Amino acid sequence: MAELKNLMISVSGVRGIVGDGFTPDVALRFAQAYGSHFGPGRIVVGRDSRVTGDLIKYAVWSGLLATGCDVVDIGMTTTPTTAMATERAENSGGIIITASHNPREWNALKLLAPDGLFLNPEEGARILERVRQEDFRFAAWHEVGTVRPYARAAEDHIASVINLPLIDVTAIRKRGFKIVADPCNGAGGTILPEFLQELGCEVIYLNLEPSGHFPRSPEPVPENLGDLCAAVVKHRADLGIAVDPDVDRLALVSEKGVPLGEEYTLALAVEFVLAHTPGDVVVNASTSLVIDDLARQYGVRVHRTPVGEIHVASKARQSGAVIAGEGNGGVILPALHLGRDAIAGIALILQHLVEKSKPLSQVHADLPQYVIVKDKITLPFGVDARRLVARLTEAHRSGPIDLTDGLKLLYDASWVHIRASNTEPIVRVMAEAPSAEEAQNRVAALKAEFARLTMN
Ligand code: MG
Repeated sequence: MAELKNLMISVSGVRGIVGDGFTPDVALRFAQAYGSHFGPGRIVVGRDSRVTGDLIKYAVWSGLLATGCDVVDIGMTTTPTTAMATERAENSGGIIITASHNPREWNALKLLAPDGLFLNPEEGARILERVRQEDFRFAAWHEVGTVRPYARAAEDHIASVINLPLIDVTAIRKRGFKIVADPCNGAGGTILPEFLQELGCEVIYLNLEPSGHFPRSPEPVPENLGDLCAAVVKHRADLGIAVDPDVDRLALVSEKGVPLGEEYTLALAVEFVLAHTPGDVVVNASTSLVIDDLARQYGVRVHRTPVGEIHVASKARQSGAVIAGEGNGGVILPALHLGRDAIAGIALILQHLVEKSKPLSQVHADLPQYVIVKDKITLPFGVDARRLVARLTEAHRSGPIDLTDGLKLLYDASWVHIRASNTEPIVRVMAEAPSAEEAQNRVAALKAEFARLTMN
């Protein structure tokens, strides 16, 4: 068997640079493993706008068809659209070909379970074992699958969002939002125009063409949104929105041209949902304290999970949460679907603005204000990051700590969190506090402590 080299393999899929590790052969084998495990049945396949999308898509199709699965081809689309199509009763699984916010030379398979959630660690391990063992179940020639195009996945997705009881489309239309939208030439271009038109918005687009040629770093973090901020001011828009290439993360820019930071996307969605339907909230271990403050205000509970969408989604299902997500702009509205969805996020934010009757900058300013500082420590190859974090944990046993994912030290209105990356030989160090100075100090102190530990 060919080796799996230069690839990042996680529970929910495999990714790498196309031509240097991530090859059609890798895609083929993962699809064969997936089809052998979940098939035979109808498997939804979507792809984002990457230049290598077709190359990988045909390998995935071939692998699925060989195991007797039918392919439901929903074309170029978003991750949440694919997940919602997978959830439909007549379909048995789904695969999205996207490397999310990774640079354009990357591509990946994200593997969905039949219920439309990402694979959980156990299912992911089973698929990977099949890949490694080449444990494939091939169909006889007369039982191989066929490809069935399905062109209405985006339409279905949009309809599900605008039909949500929380969303008053007439009121949003009446408000007549002027928006600048930047999908970074990703899959957002396949759904945003129809969606925002449905909501009666006047939209100025940047980087709308879903060509896969990302004109900037595609992660929707403030440092990448300079053009969007300038365009919001220039066009006197009500807000700016940026989505990542597979449209599961959403970032907002106020009417003043100021990026709110991704943490506040989820905070605004939580504030809106709790005001209507108070209930449990689920977020990951490094999501902002704004969420806890909001939960306190509404007398509801916050559950924290390890970082990673599947952990948040599973806990949201188990706890019956009304809203969930990750602080990187990933909003999960369980009433719609248990996956991060920027389209749902946009609808919630616009409805929130309608009801608040205030500009976005004001709605943001009314929320508790914190600063999050993110840093990392690169380790020499071969160093066991988890073991080092565990040693650091021992030194802090007596204090108020949270061990949901790595080590998180808790203070009155701040925290600092250290965890080994799942995908790179680094540890991530993050802190949140009411001031940037305090957050920076917390990060610096923990980094220094970690450095002393690694020298011993
Ligand atoms: Mg993404």
